[in-house]
Parts: sequence; structure tokens; C-alpha cells
Amino acid sequence: MEIENIVANTVYIKARESGGQKKGKSKKWKNYLQFPHYTECLPLKSEIDVSFAYIVEKQPIGKLLFHEFCESSSEQYHACCTFLTKVEEYETSDDDIQSRRDLATAIIALLAPKNSEDKPSSSQDEQTSWSSFLPDEVISKCLSSADSATHQNDPASDIFSEAYRLAREFLTEKPFQEFVDSMYFHRYLQWKFLEKRPVDKHTFRLYRVLGKGGFGEVCACQVRASGKMYALKKLEKKRVKKRHAEILSLNEKQILQKINSPFVVSLAYAYETKDALCLVLTLMNGGDLKFHLYNLMPGGFDEKRVQFYAAEITLGLQHLHNEKILYRDLKPENILLDDNGHVRISDLGLAVELKDNEAIKGRVGTVGYMAPEIVKNERYAYGVDWWGVGCLIYEMIEGKAPFRQRKEKVKREEVERRVREDQEKYSEKFSEAARTLCRGLLHKEPSFRLGCRRVGKPEEGAEEIRAHPFFNLADAATSREAVPWKKMEAGKVSPPFCPDPRAVYAKDVLDIEQFSTVKGVRLDATDTQFYGKFNTGSVSIPWQNEMIETECFAELNQYKDEEGNLYWNLRPDGMNAEERRN
Ligand code: ADP
Ligand code: MG
Ligand code: MG
Repeated sequence: MEIENIVANTVYIKARESGGQKKGKSKKWKNYLQFPHYTECLPLKSEIDVSFAYIVEKQPIGKLLFHEFCESSSEQYHACCTFLTKVEEYETSDDDIQSRRDLATAIIALLAPKNSEDKPSSSQDEQTSWSSFLPDEVISKCLSSADSATHQNDPASDIFSEAYRLAREFLTEKPFQEFVDSMYFHRYLQWKFLEKRPVDKHTFRLYRVLGKGGFGEVCACQVRASGKMYALKKLEKKRVKKRHAEILSLNEKQILQKINSPFVVSLAYAYETKDALCLVLTLMNGGDLKFHLYNLMPGGFDEKRVQFYAAEITLGLQHLHNEKILYRDLKPENILLDDNGHVRISDLGLAVELKDNEAIKGRVGTVGYMAPEIVKNERYAYGVDWWGVGCLIYEMIEGKAPFRQRKEKVKREEVERRVREDQEKYSEKFSEAARTLCRGLLHKEPSFRLGCRRVGKPEEGAEEIRAHPFFNLADAATSREAVPWKKMEAGKVSPPFCPDPRAVYAKDVLDIEQFSTVKGVRLDATDTQFYGKFNTGSVSIPWQNEMIETECFAELNQYKDEEGNLYWNLRPDGMNAEERRN
């Protein structure tokens, strides 16, 4: 290995580990995240969505601040939040019977705190309990079904749903209004202010190149303020212009920014430099599936591993399709592994929104992975992605793609003929369930294909795939077990393979081809206008998650100073930042 590569890797691995007490934060990190006086942030209130559904239910920092408010202001509000949190946990724990029963017991205790045996309840107590807004019959119905739930094998997931709905509604009214009038909301606006500040190249430290894209390099980067690592995908302005790819690039950015799924790479920032448009994405350290399949596991993965990747990819696609996004580029090199071995779909450059779920046309994708209806230039919809999943599962098991040998010298026309006409062959590597799944997904006729047969409900296709025996029947021969779907959706299933934390799953820096310089392109005022649409800075949810994960939130979100007085920037008479400095 060349010395240059060793140095690049060492610096990068060190940043990734970031062991120190500041965890990769710059020395001056608190200066980057200095709250202004709250009065400076008040104008933001008219620019943002001030609803419960947005602030508390969509915004991670909003939710924490609302809970802090409830905890400090009344026992009733606090109990109500606790109840909602516990019910949410209960409803997403359906694969783990024991924790589900424990949660049901805890929820019963919340609903009937005075009902224990030594302290018999009186109607007086009931009146003053936090849940006084819940009708008696709702509570007693909850209690009786929850009580039996703690004994049953499979407690129903919806026994608390009516009480949940009412408790949520309660919080959206008076408590939320009081929150908006409290200092906790001022603090929310201060965080929003930091979130909305412009982003530029000084926001990040750059590390080694990880890969090469069509319009520029992808390298690792780290936010100076928080220490969080990301991948930085550059789209060089001149290259984009030369290939007339402005609309395409903006499309990729806008779709990425809408998507918030643990199984699709997220966009955290979009900004521009003098020469490039930059997308800051979830860092996927573990390499892509193509690398793992052909360099590390030639001959294919075992079915347990295939099942895990296929399930996470199916969840990623389900999310995209629910948002009416068709992905169109499934293949092993677009599926990336993170530190722990979870996978995400990446490279949304070919993704497209299907307005009203209507089918579209266009020969787009990679040869060998395009569905027959695309090859035949017919109209198509979500089914082409399920075909892609079929190709991917086939390739992960067999160690080669269904319609093309690796490195096979074959004309595009021949591959497309095979896609249209040939029946793919199944070796003894496939279990019965794996074969029927691939057969179903690789059906040439989209209306008979697995995942496309629920007429009128294209976004439900994923459910049909999730229900297939390959995911739900245990199989001793391949040591495959049933997928615990809720747990998987919550990212809580341990991956079957964990990448080596000391390895760099990317080509050597010197082996990644350099770009040539673009000639004969001049940037002008129209270009600047387009860059403005691209350069939108932080994306709200990932930015807030970054603040929470890196503990910037916990450390900075103080309300009182050392003497126990309300912080200067939250006091109505507090000095503004300017005066403070003097
Ligand atoms: P393009 O759309 O131009 O093909 P990609 O998004 O596929 O660009 O990125 C090019 C390469 O950069 C990928 O093949 C991969 O090696 C690397 N890469 C892309 N995104 C990430 C990421 N989020 N984390 C780590 N590496 C990445
Ligand atoms: Mg790519
Ligand atoms: Mg692309």
C-alpha cells in the first residue's frame, strides 16, 4: 500500500473513532452553536409550522422540549406524555412477547395508579388523576383487555389506541398552547435559528475520498461543531452544466430531502462552494454489497444474510413507494453497509416521483437489472423496483446476476432479450422459499408479479412481499428464522455480519481515478439562480438528530446559569449578544 493511502486511511479511521472526550468536536464548538437572545428568534415563528403534529411529532428537538415543558409544568401533562411514550413502545414491540407484557403492566399502573390492593380506590382519587379526561368506559375497557393481555401469548396491539387518541388530543390543546407561550418554545426557536443558519465549506472538515460519482468525488467529512461524520457527494458545477444535468441533480436533492427512513441514505445538508454543489449524506462505512459479494464472499451469501438484507431493502422501498417515489436503480453497488452492518439504499439519481401513482415511461436503469416492461419501452410503475429486488436476491444467493455473468462479454441486446424471454435458472443454492420468492418477483408480466397484484393499491405491494414464507417461515436447513418485522423497522435486529471497524471498505485513494478538467463551459447568472435552489443548508430532522446524538443538545440546552438564574438569553430583560460581548 502506498504511503499516501496509509496516511489518508489512518487520519480517516482516527476521525471515525473520535475517542476523545470532545468526540471529534472542534475546540471552539460552543461558539459555533451560540444561541442568540430569544427576541432575535421571534420572527422565525411566522416562518415555521407551529402545530403539534409538526413540532412534537416530527421534530426530534421539538419533542424533547415539549416533554421538558410538560415535566416542569404539571404532573398531569407529564403523566400524559409518559402514557403516550409507553403505548408507542407497546405498539412497536409486537415481536417480543415478554417486553410487551411488561409494558402492558406498566401502562395499567399508569391508568389505575390507586388501584393496587393495599390502597383501594375511591371515586375522589379517580377525579384528580391525570387521566380524568378519559371516559370511565375507555379506561375500564383498557384495563380489562390489558389485564388479559399480560396473560395471553399474543396480546393485541391496539388495546390502548382509543385512550392514546384521547390523550394525544388532550395534549394538542391547552398544554400545547401553554408550551408555545413558554420559555421552552423560545428555546425551540433558538435551536431553529441555529438550524437555519447558512452552511458552507467551513462547516466541515474533509477526509479521504471514498468513491467516484458521475459528477465528482465522494469523500468522508465531519461537522466541526458536533463531530458527526458524513459522506460528502460533490457535483462539480461545470460537469453538471456540460451534461445538462441541472434538473436531474436538483431532483436527486429534493427527493433525498423528503425521505426520512433508516433504510435509505439521508440528506443532512445541501450547500455550494465556488466549484461544486454538495450533498452531505449518511456515512456508510461498510462498503457496498457488490464489494462484499464479489471480493469477500464469492459464491454468494448464506440465506440468513440474504434474508436480512432483502428485508431491510424491502422496508426502504416501502418507505419510498409510500412517498410515491420510484427508485429504478436497484443493484448490489447501490446498497451500502454502515458500521454495524445495516444496509441502506443509496444513489437516488434515477428516482422519480409518480404523481397520483400514475405509470410512466422512459428507458432508465442499468442493463441487466431493468425490468422487461422498461426494456420493452412500455409504461411502468412500482413493479420495476420489485423486479429489482428479485434480481438482487437472486444475485446474493447465486453469486451472479440472473441474466448476465459477471464480466461476461455480451451485447446489451442479448441481455435484454434474456430479460424479456429467458426463464432464469435456479441452482441447488436456493431453498424452496427463496426460489418461489425470486420466481414471484421476477415474473415477466408486471400484473402477475409479487408486490404488484393488489390492484389500485400500489403502495401496499411491500406487504405482499413481507408476507412471503421466505421472510416468515423458519428453516432449519439454512438456519433462517422468521423476520421480527416491527423490531426490524425500529432498527433493532442485529445484523448477521458486522464490518471490521478498523478496515476501510473503499478502493485505495490512488486507485480512484482522478477527474479530468471540464473545458469549454462558462457559468453565468442563470446558473447562479439554479444553485440558489440547491443551496438550502441543513435538513431539519437529520440536523436535530445530529445535535441529540452527539450530545450537543444535552450540553447546551441549559436554562439556568451557575448561580441558578434563568439564562441571559431567555430573560425578557436579558442583554442581547452584542451587549454581552462588550
Ligand atoms: P453517482 O450518482 O454519481 O453514481 P453515487 O451516489 O453512486 O454517485 O456515489 C459514488 C460512489 O461514492 C459510490 O459508489 C460509493 O463508493 C461512494 N458513496 C456514495 N455515497 C456514499 C455514502 N453515503 N457513504 C459512503 N460512500 C458513499
Ligand atoms: Mg452510482
Ligand atoms: Mg447517481
